[in-house]
Amino acid sequence: MSRNHPDSNEDDKVETCIFCLIASERDKEAEIMKKDKELVCFKDINPAAPHHYLVVPRQHMHSCSSLNSGHISLVKRMAEMGKTVLRDQGVTNMKDIRLGFHQPPYISVNHLHLHVLAPTNKISEYLMYKFMPKTVAFITEESLTMHLKNKAPPVKY
Ligand SMILES: [Zn+2]
Ligand SMILES: [Zn+2]
Repeated sequence: MSRNHPDSNEDDKVETCIFCLIASERDKEAEIMKKDKELVCFKDINPAAPHHYLVVPRQHMHSCSSLNSGHISLVKRMAEMGKTVLRDQGVTNMKDIRLGFHQPPYISVNHLHLHVLAPTNKISEYLMYKFMPKTVAFITEESLTMHLKNKAPPVKY
């Protein structure tokens, strides 16, 4: 692939981001479960539960730490897509699911992604620690939304 833009640093970052590749549907390995104009949901490559999917925005964003109150609706849409995929896959007990984000530095890929797991009681014992609510590593979608309500967007001059 040739590249002539002298100012393509931002592009370079995106080019090498595996989730950007999946979200733009250039990675053929990923098993995409659902997509729309804004979001893509695919199977986690190392599933920790019978159902384990990731929802990512097509647009590159670093992590949940990059978000503010202006992103609450985005987080809600990500959660909705995750729940829709679970229902599509036959999950009926929507109380026995876990939706959340890893918090830096406990993130494996620097592209915002929502983990969607079900059922909760079948999350692998060995991987459970990665998805424990109220730890420094993991924040549930609900806790993040509450937290974002108090986090105003940076002021633009
Ligand atoms: Zn990315
Ligand atoms: Zn993750």
